[in-house]
Formats: sequence, C-alpha cells, structure tokens
Amino acid sequence: MWMDLMEKEKKAKRAKKRPGKPGLMRRLVSSIQTKIALIFMLLLLATIEIIGAYFTRQMEQTSIDNFQTTIQLQTIVTDQLTNQLVKNGKSADRKMNQIITDYSNDAISEIQVVDSKNVIRAVSNLNDKNRVGQLSNNGDIREVINTGQQKTLVTSTQKGSFMVQIVPLTSGTNIVGAVYVKASMADVFNNLRNVSMMFLTASLLAVVVAAIASMFISRAITRPIEELRQQAIQVADGDYSTQVKIYSNDELGQLGAAFNTLSAKIERSNEQSESERRRLDSVLSHMTDGVIATDRHGNVSIMNQMAQDFLNIKADDAINRPISQVLGLGEEYTSQDLISNQSDMQVTVNAGTDDEMILHASFTLIKRVTGFVSGAVCVLHDVTEQIKNEDEQRQFVSNVSHELRTPLTSVRAYIEALNEGAWKDPEIAPQFLEVTQKETERMIRMVNDLLVLSRMDRGATKLEPEWVNFTDFVGHLLNRFDMIVEHDQGEAQSDTKEYAIKRDLGNQALWVEIDTDQMMRVIDNIMNNAIKYSPDGGTITVRLTQNQILLSISDQGLGIPRKDLGKIFDRFYRADKARSRAQGGTGLGLAIAKEIVTAHGGRIWADSREGHGSTFYISLPYEPMDEEDEWDEV
Ligand code: ADP
Repeated sequence: MWMDLMEKEKKAKRAKKRPGKPGLMRRLVSSIQTKIALIFMLLLLATIEIIGAYFTRQMEQTSIDNFQTTIQLQTIVTDQLTNQLVKNGKSADRKMNQIITDYSNDAISEIQVVDSKNVIRAVSNLNDKNRVGQLSNNGDIREVINTGQQKTLVTSTQKGSFMVQIVPLTSGTNIVGAVYVKASMADVFNNLRNVSMMFLTASLLAVVVAAIASMFISRAITRPIEELRQQAIQVADGDYSTQVKIYSNDELGQLGAAFNTLSAKIERSNEQSESERRRLDSVLSHMTDGVIATDRHGNVSIMNQMAQDFLNIKADDAINRPISQVLGLGEEYTSQDLISNQSDMQVTVNAGTDDEMILHASFTLIKRVTGFVSGAVCVLHDVTEQIKNEDEQRQFVSNVSHELRTPLTSVRAYIEALNEGAWKDPEIAPQFLEVTQKETERMIRMVNDLLVLSRMDRGATKLEPEWVNFTDFVGHLLNRFDMIVEHDQGEAQSDTKEYAIKRDLGNQALWVEIDTDQMMRVIDNIMNNAIKYSPDGGTITVRLTQNQILLSISDQGLGIPRKDLGKIFDRFYRADKARSRAQGGTGLGLAIAKEIVTAHGGRIWADSREGHGSTFYISLPYEPMDEEDEWDEV
C-alpha cells in the first residue's frame, strides 16, 4: 500500500520534470536535422562564394588583359603614324587620318593622333573632324608626351565603360606625339555579366540540390536518434515493450543496440526490485508485529497494516508525521530522541480504557555502507497479554501468600494459647482445637484447589468425556442436595437451614458428551454456594432449558453486588470476604468451575439482584441427535 504511495510520488516527480512541448518553429530550429542541413548549406555557400569571387576576379582580369592586347596598336601602324607626324603638312595629316580610319574596328570607338605640341592632328571619328588642328585638353595625353610612357586606363561614363590606351610616338629619341585609342568595353563586361549570371544560377541550383541532399542525409542521421529519444521516454515511463530499430552497424546502430541492451537490463532489474518490493510488502503486511520506518529526521515513511491497527491510525494520516507523535509520545520525547537512543520502550495505547493495549517498541537505525544514517525502523510487539499475565501471576502469588497467611496466623495464635496453658482448660481447649482443625482443613482444601487449577493451567488435566443424558445427570445430582439440612458454620452454629430445591428440568433427553466428574464438581460448587450464601434458607430453583443445554441455578440469598458480578469467577475473588472465609470458602470454586466449563466449550455466568438472590447459568454446546442416531444408539 505504501508502495502505491511511493509510486504516485515518483510519477508526480516525473510529470513535474518533463518540460512542455516546444512550438513547432522552435523544435525545427533546435532540431539537429535542421542544424546539419543549415551547416551543410552554409559551408557550400561559403565555398561557392570563395571560388566564385576568385574565379570572376581572375576572369575579369584575363578579359581586360585580352581586350588590352586586342586594342594594342601594331608597331607598323605606330611607325607609319610617326613617319607622317615627322613630315608635317596637310597631306601627312590626311594620310594619318586614312591610317587611323582604316585601323578603326568595331571595338575601337575613337583614335586621335596628337603631336608633341598637343595639337590634334588626326581623328578617326568623322564627327570630330573640326577638332583637328585644335589643342588637346586631355591631361593624360600631355602626360604621355611628356614622360614617353604608355598609359592604359579604364573610364566609366554615362555612355558606358571604355578602355583608353595612349601610346607615345617616338622618332629616334624624340617624342613626336602620341596616339590616343579609346575602345568600348561593353562586350567585355557583357560577357563577364553573362558568365557571372551563369555562375550564380549554377550556385543557386547547387545550393538547392545541396539543401535537399543535406535534408536526406541529416534525416538519416537524426532518425535513429529521434527513435532513441522516443524509446528513452517510454523506458522512463516504465514501458519496455518496444526496441530501437537498428538501421546500420555504424556508431548510431551500435548506440541503438547498446540502448536495447540497457533497456532490457533495466527491465530485468526493475522486475527484480518490483518482486522484491512485493515480497517485502507481503511480509510486512502479514507480520503479526507492527513495523514503522522513518526517514533520518524521524518522520514516518512506511507503516504496515499491523502498526496501523495497533495505533488505530491510517497510514495516509501517519506518513510524514514525526514518529514520536504517531506513537503518542510527542510530549515526552522528540523523534530524534527515540531513534538516536535506540532503547526499547513500552507504549500504551488507549490507556485507561477497555481497549488498552501495551506495545513493546524497539528501534533500529538504518545505516548505509558509508555509515550515514538514512532512517530508522521501529518494531511494535503487542505485549498486553504478556504484561497482563505477569501482573496476574504476581497478583496470584501475593493472593496465595495472603490467603495462607491468614489461617496460618490464626492457627499459630490458637496453638500458642493452648501451649501457654489453655490446653488445661477443658472448655476452651476443644473449641481451640476445633478451630485449628477447621482452618487446617480449609488450608488443605485451598491447596488442593490450587493444585487443581495449576494442573489445569499446565494442561495436565485431560477431560474424560462420556455420553450422558444431561437431564438425568442433573436430576441425580440434585437428589443428593434434596432437603439438605446444614449447620450454618458462621455466626449461629446451632441454627439449621432448610432448603427446598425446585426442579424444572423437563423430561426431554439431552445427550451430551461431558466429563461427568468435572461437571459434577461445577454444579456441586454452584449448589453449595447457593446454600452457603442464602442465610435464611429458601428455594433453590434449578432449570434446564429444553432443546439446548442451558442450566440455571437460582437462589433467594444475599445476591451479589453488580460491581462484583464480572469478578467472582476470578481466582480468590470474593464479594464478601469475611462471610466467605467464615463459610470455609477458598475463593477458588468458581474459578475452577469456569475453567472446567470453558474446557467443555461452554460458558458460565451469573446474574443477581443484591439482597434478592443470584442466578448462575451454565451453557454447553449441544447438537440435537436426529432419530436415526438415536436408533443407532439403541
Ligand atoms: P468461595 O469459596 O468463597 O465460595 P467461590 O469461588 O465459590 O468461592 O465464590 C466466589 C465468591 O462469589 C464468593 O466468595 C461469594 O462472595 C460469591 N458468591 C458465589 N456464589 C454466590 C451466591 N450464590 N450468592 C451470593 N454470592 C455468591
């Protein structure tokens, strides 16, 4: 039962620990599958970017170099132009015009020839004819003429990008002028753009393919991991029925196999500890001793059914409460005192009531191998009966001593008196001797009764049952008491008491198996008491109920006070001590009667009204015989 509690607690803890399901987006972002795909794509993108940047840069450089070579003026042309420039004059200019016009092609958009004085001498573009003879305002041309160094530059205007190449014209060591060549780079850049576009498209395609491929690859990696996760959750919930699927013999496959082994081992050890727990549970619940286990602070953690019954408390109400309180010792001890002292003690439950129970509590610490105290166990043993028996035994010994001392004292007193000379008195001496004899006889009776009881207590008295007709048995017994005339041995010795015995036995045969000697002793004792305790005589009514064995013996005597009714069957108990002693009673007759009736499986009890008489009842187990049995008997 406390195992259920522990199980509930565990489940609650498990439920507490498990986080709620995150949103789909968060799960996607945080999933390994997405991370692997993203890393894969980013790596691919970075690689493509680096290669692309390097490649386009290289291609651009090569294209520009190639273009530069394409527009480079051939030496023969520059030589011709130098010759014409040195000649000077209009025809030279015309010739130069002719040369550059001839040389112009689709790529070259403009050629100018400038002499050493910066005067434009020839232009390839017809629209610029009027500029011939004018001073060139181009700083670069002037620089080339001054330095004699060829210059190539790329310019960008609204009309597009152009490459300008200015080549100095030299005659011997003299710089005679320069040729200015301007070529549109539109084609070059168009080509570059086309290639870049192709590259970009290919890159995008590669990224898409890579994304799909990486999704598949990462899925292949994460699927076993996801299955492992699901399996782990199931195992944590105590479900060991499914196994992780092994897809391959790689590390993940090996991890899956290891997990399956682990889960099988957990299941086995769980089963073991579960059966161990069940065994402990059943041992504890079937124990006749109460068991309470506490944590190290002394708060109750386990309580078996017996302990609950003993202490009249439900386990649910006791769990987590200090053991000192649960045992009802809260005022005298703390739980820590109880478990650290480890001494045995007695706990009284329902003290002062009829349900009073005395429990022997012994404490033992639960220690781990390290010596750390993790709790304590308290075993409760019901010692009520034992203590009661011990008390009764003490009381009995004291009663016996007391009962014997009184007559012995009186006997000694009489003997002393006789010894001191009373024996010489012919009147007193016989009286003293008679009393001494009576007391001695009473003591003998008492000792005999005690021996009978002692034999019964030891179980040494065996019943010797025989089948008798109880109605006849009681009838014969009463015949002996009929009209008994007895001398009252009390106050008035000369008084005689006459008693009438009224029989109401019916004539139905009640066959029963009894030890007749013993049962005779019982009825004798009750009859004698009825006579003894009825000083004024009277009628004793003996009734036997038909169809069952219930014998009642009623007298019209002193009666028994209500408070004593339950006790008169106790050893040495007398309602009226003086009278009983005076009557030579031992106080053991009814105790013996009770033992005998109980040994027969019956019951004996009394009812009385003080001053009006008493009724004693004896009931015995009786099974009416059917006719067949009676015929058998005959
Ligand atoms: P005793 O030897 O004293 O009679 P018993 O065991 O026979 O011892 O009886 C116990 C006590 O019960 C007696 O001392 C007496 O006080 C009381 N008792 C028994 N029978 C009767 C009775 N019929 N009427 C009144 N008191 C009785």
